[in-house]
Amino acid sequence: MKILNVVGARPNFIKIAPLHRAFGKFPDIDSKIVHTGQHYDASMSDVFFAQLDLPKPDFYLDVVNGSQTRQMADIMLKFEHVLTNEKPDWVLVVGDITSTLACALVAVRMGIRVAHVEAGLRSGDRQMPEEINRIVTDSLSDLLLVTEPAGRKNLLREGVAEERIHLVGNVMIDALVHHRPKASALNIVDTLGLSQRPYAFMTMHRPANVDTLSSLQQLISVIERVAQQLPVVFSLHPRTHANLVNFNILPQLISIPNTYLLKPQGYLESLNLIERAAIVLTDSGGIQEETTYLNIPCLTLRTSTERPITIELGTNQLIPELNPELIAEKVIQLLNNKPARGTSIPFWDGRAAERIADIIRAS
Ligand code: UDP
Repeated sequence: MKILNVVGARPNFIKIAPLHRAFGKFPDIDSKIVHTGQHYDASMSDVFFAQLDLPKPDFYLDVVNGSQTRQMADIMLKFEHVLTNEKPDWVLVVGDITSTLACALVAVRMGIRVAHVEAGLRSGDRQMPEEINRIVTDSLSDLLLVTEPAGRKNLLREGVAEERIHLVGNVMIDALVHHRPKASALNIVDTLGLSQRPYAFMTMHRPANVDTLSSLQQLISVIERVAQQLPVVFSLHPRTHANLVNFNILPQLISIPNTYLLKPQGYLESLNLIERAAIVLTDSGGIQEETTYLNIPCLTLRTSTERPITIELGTNQLIPELNPELIAEKVIQLLNNKPARGTSIPFWDGRAAERIADIIRAS
């Protein structure tokens, strides 16, 4: 059986790594990797292949830069060519990026079965490009592989046949479990001179938070205010960095005292920084899950989350506005009274990829 695994951006590389490893255990599975090239540079792509023991992609589509529609069209044309030559039995897509939807659509058109990993997540916010990608990809997929119970409920509500839905757990947590020993052995905070102090780790990259001058200015005020409480270690996503430069306000961010600006970190470095943080502030999907698993308090600076289990279990809170005073108050509360995750999460045990391999082989 031949499976083409599609990756395009940072979180995809992390999710595909455990799957490719699990597929490799079965001699009857020929698992190949197609990299669309949405994220292509050393810090957003190469370092993940190296750290996650992923082989060089079998196919690299070198997608054009540009609007989402242009990228989508380019990926579709190039992926069609790969599918025509390779004729796989399955196309496996993960997450909710442009590559996920583009490749699922081409595969379905060509009569090739599609498995969607991380299916069923819904934020309810159609302003998010990711939400549209999720809804359409799920409606096209033959196998819907779900990370948390809400995903199953969402799909049933949308009329997906029950036998196509499988609650398998979370491949992002598989990667965390597998790589945690190496990540824990690192000591990044020491190199920043922070080793003995609690710090906040922060990442922000969603368009709603970083695409306008006013939201970026609010974000800078939030960081300024939080950094009065404890050091802020901020990993700067390329999108956020580019917008700060375009609006000419990067110097404002650089000048905030008690703030440590970092380039995008490798996967092991990121896990290490999360694991040792007193608190995390983010708008990342994956980091909401990683903090939940690691039992680190997380403030998600968004109006909604597609990962409600992170809220139900008590480690994650939504902060719907970039209000510096309110956020600083929450930070102080959490530092004084760290919430404990109530219970363990069903199937977030490091074995989701194995379950997925079994399901695909049996389908
Ligand atoms: N991450 C990373 N380096 C960083 C920031 C985050 O490796 O500098 C990791 C993080 O630990 C998580 C993943 O990237 O595993 C989340 O990806 P991202 O936030 O880009 O996407 P999302 O999950 O929001 O789709």
